[in-house]
Amino acid sequence: MQYPLPIEKLIDSYRRLPGIGAKTAARLAFFSMDMPEEDVLQFANALISVKRDLTHCSICGYITQESPCLICCDEQRNRTQILVVEDSKDVISMERMGEYKGLYHILGGVLSPMDGIGPDDLSISSLIQRLQDAEDVQEIIIATNPTAEGEATAKYIARLLKPANIMVTRLAHGLAVGSDIEYADEMTLLRAIEGRRTL
Ligand SMILES: [Zn+2]
Repeated sequence: MQYPLPIEKLIDSYRRLPGIGAKTAARLAFFSMDMPEEDVLQFANALISVKRDLTHCSICGYITQESPCLICCDEQRNRTQILVVEDSKDVISMERMGEYKGLYHILGGVLSPMDGIGPDDLSISSLIQRLQDAEDVQEIIIATNPTAEGEATAKYIARLLKPANIMVTRLAHGLAVGSDIEYADEMTLLRAIEGRRTL
């Protein structure tokens, strides 16, 4: 027997979320049906708001309500360093650690020939452009995750930046292979950044 169409549609929407199977999706859909209307509206509006009210910073690519983002606009930040990460979630982890005071650049992923992701699919050319526009950058810290793709991306960027004569460093291997920066604890991140090595 089929569920009524509105429930089917909601189950289908929940199933698109990562880690949600058919059973959980059905449970969430029925739970939503019993929620107070006010809570449902708030939930729906929050979903719409992340799409409508957020954009990517025109300089670093970080998610922000206004571009350029607060980090890029902050005159207190150290403008000689740019830390290159895979996505915005990594910036949040770094900021939580509180020790890094430089700027960021978000790649939007890593090179992955198997998935058809090449240099043009990432914000690499905008990083190069940034370096040409800003003369005060002295160090690029590549903080892609320690996966095969993350390492290949780090090497690719380092090779590309060689003629620019800017120091390119890589986070130390305090991070276990395959582990994500997003989930690393603050102490591990701090050690990884302090022990960074030249590429
Ligand atoms: Zn920014």
